[in-house]
Formats: sequence, structure tokens, C-alpha cells
Amino acid sequence: MAERPIAIEVKDLHKSFRMPSHRVSTIKERAVRPFSPIDYTTLHALRGISFRVAKGEFMGIAGRNGSGKTTLLKLLASIYRADSGRLRVAGSLAPLIELGVGFNPNLTARENVLLNGVMMGMTPREARSRFDKIIEFAELEEFVEMKLKNYSSGMSMRLAFAVMVQSDADVLMVDEVLAVGDASFAQKCADEFQRLHDEGRTILLVTHSMESLRSLCDHAILIEDGVVDLDGDPADVANRYLQINFKGPGQAPPQSADGAGGEAGRIAEVWLEDSDGERSRGFPHGSPIHLVAVIEAKQEINRPSFGFDIRSSGGVPVFASGSQQLADSLKRGDRVTFRATVPNPLRPGSYAISCGLAQSGSRPVHWRPRIAELVVWGRPQFGLVALDWSWELERESQADAVETTRE
Ligand code: ADP
Repeated sequence: MAERPIAIEVKDLHKSFRMPSHRVSTIKERAVRPFSPIDYTTLHALRGISFRVAKGEFMGIAGRNGSGKTTLLKLLASIYRADSGRLRVAGSLAPLIELGVGFNPNLTARENVLLNGVMMGMTPREARSRFDKIIEFAELEEFVEMKLKNYSSGMSMRLAFAVMVQSDADVLMVDEVLAVGDASFAQKCADEFQRLHDEGRTILLVTHSMESLRSLCDHAILIEDGVVDLDGDPADVANRYLQINFKGPGQAPPQSADGAGGEAGRIAEVWLEDSDGERSRGFPHGSPIHLVAVIEAKQEINRPSFGFDIRSSGGVPVFASGSQQLADSLKRGDRVTFRATVPNPLRPGSYAISCGLAQSGSRPVHWRPRIAELVVWGRPQFGLVALDWSWELERESQADAVETTRE
């Protein structure tokens, strides 16, 4: 089978930034030591990045903040020059890297769209003829004569995205645009990406949304500390991203604001542990989650019980349950540690756990909403939970009969 032509090739790309380690901040300091040398520290943002994107491929780039994603896009868009390495983009490129780049705040949206269209490779006539489509897509019909400095960042983003998708560029490069704007516009962007992908354009998307990575991309890379940590299937890259982002004892679970109650006693602290007893926020699918809560009694608590619920990042309740009575009572000043083991049939994604302490049946004592965050990685990729199920095949008696007659 013939290999698909390559749209982007990056080979052993290096980029570093030199920053003064001591800033001369006052005129006096400069006057007193006018020729003192300025020391620089070198920050290696990209340390030998290599990958290839085939023509027509939708490639996702994931990585933590500061890993080097924007630097890479800026090198591809020729905003920066590389220190060394090779970089090749076949065809025209339409970048959407930073909000406001390519827009002039003192011009109206109309003027900016025409200017931007030309900058993205359209002829002035093409830009004018596509103007209405761009404005309609961006849903900014009422604001075309408004200067961009009066636009909100969401409005500017919609405009920039609309200009980009209307360009004829062979390669589209987008940083995080799906994260901006409301849910309906994000869906519109996702649909538009699908259309452009179906048209055979090459797309590069930097995203923190592992949902987008899995659902949109057919290839992905993970950048970690200026190098490619993983290059391959988006589901594997998404898993690895979640794993390195949320694994490790260094990541204490976020303690949310106190909820209702807390006078008679309180849930002082909640964290999650893995099967090795290590504190963690990230769990592979299928590996049990150990929920640990420290309960303090300020007064006597009769027949205490503990409950919790797990909600998806979209707020959908996935599971809720409570313990039977934990003890006859907790005395004033008691401090006890509650441990629960919860199986993990959850599909990859992030979840919030809320916990509650009650007494004498169901009288609430203390409620801690979203007190612990949980990230699950691994397969499966679809649905809210994976359920154990079984199956059997029953052969129709007639088919049996046919087989028998053949014998
Ligand atoms: P990401 O987009 O993955 O968050 P960046 O590419 O923006 O990461 O940054 C990678 C590293 O390079 C960071 O440590 C950042 O501080 C540094 N960096 C990026 N741009 C510059 C710059 N113009 N000057 C100095 N350092 C920079």
C-alpha cells in the first residue's frame, strides 16, 4: 500500500529562550553599574521534537502547561525560528494560535475579517465574498461595525475561528479554541473540524480536552517537558496524559469549600488512595478506589453514618451510597478515619466525589460537596460505566434441523 504524502514533518527540533537572570529594575541601579554584565539563563522549551503528520490527518497535541506546545505551533507558523532541527509544512497554513494575533484592535470586525482573510491566503475578492459566511458562522451579525477592542475575548475567538475555517489553507493549526466559548459554539467548532477533515484538510489541534482528542483526532502526540513522550493512537495518548497529570502523591486532592452543617461534627479531610495505599487522584479503569475520610466529632454524634456520591465532570450522578451505622456513637473530641473500597467500572474521564456525615438515620451533620476529584484512565471509551455482562447464543431449532438434514 502506498504511503500517504506527508503534510508536516518535524525532525529533532530544538528551541530555547534566553532570559536575563537579574533584571535591572531601577535607573539608579543602571547608573551605578552601567556596564555590569547581564547574566542569562537558558530555558530549553523544545529538546529534540520529531513527528510526522500525513496529509488529511487530524492530529491532536496534548501536554501539560509549559510542556512546549505553543512554542511548537509558533515554530510551525514561522513566528519563532528554531535553534536547530528540520521543519517542513507542505502547502498553505492557517494558524489560530493566540487570540488577537492577526487582528487590529482599532479596526472594525468587517475591516479585520477582510484583512485577516487576505493574510490567510484569500484574494481580497474572495475575502469579501466569504465575509457573510464568516460573520454568520461567528454569530456576530450585529457587531460587524464595532471595533475589535470593544469585543469580548469570546467574540474575537469566534471571529478568528470563523475566518480560519473559511480559508482554503491545506493545513489548519488551532490552539485550544474548543475550550473557549459556550457549549453550543464548541459543538459547532467540532462539527466544522469534522467537515474540514472530511474535505481532506490536515488539522493540528492543541487541546487539554481528552474528549476532543479521542473523538476528533486520528493520531496524537503527547509533549512532556519539551520532548515527544508518546506518538500514536489518541486513546493511548489521552490515557497517558491523564496518567501523568493526575498520578502521584504530590497531587493532593482539592479541598472544596465547606458545605452545609458541621456544628456537631465535621468531615475534616478526604482523600483517595490506590491499592498500594498511595494517595492519588488518578486511577486506571478497573482498579479499586479507596476513599478515606477523617471525621471529627465536636459534640456527641449518635448512630453516625457516612455517605458519598460520584458525579461525572458534566454533573451527572453516577453513583451514590451510604454506610450502615458506623458506631453506636462518637464522643465529643473523637477523631476517626473512615475507609471505603469502591470498585471502578467508570469510563475514562474526570469525576467529583461529595461526602456527607449523618446521625440517627439520616439527619445531616456535615456535607462536603465536590471534596475530592477523581480521574480515570484506560479503556473503555464509551458510556458512563463498564458493566460486567454475559451472553449466550441459542440456535434456532429450524437451523439445527437444516444442519441435521445436511449431514
Ligand atoms: P505550553 O504551550 O505547552 O503551555 P509553551 O510552549 O508556552 O508551553 O512554553 C514552554 C516553555 O517555554 C515554558 O517554560 C515557557 O515559560 C517557555 N517560554 C515560552 N515562550 C517563551 C518566551 N517567549 N520567552 C521565554 N520563555 C518562553
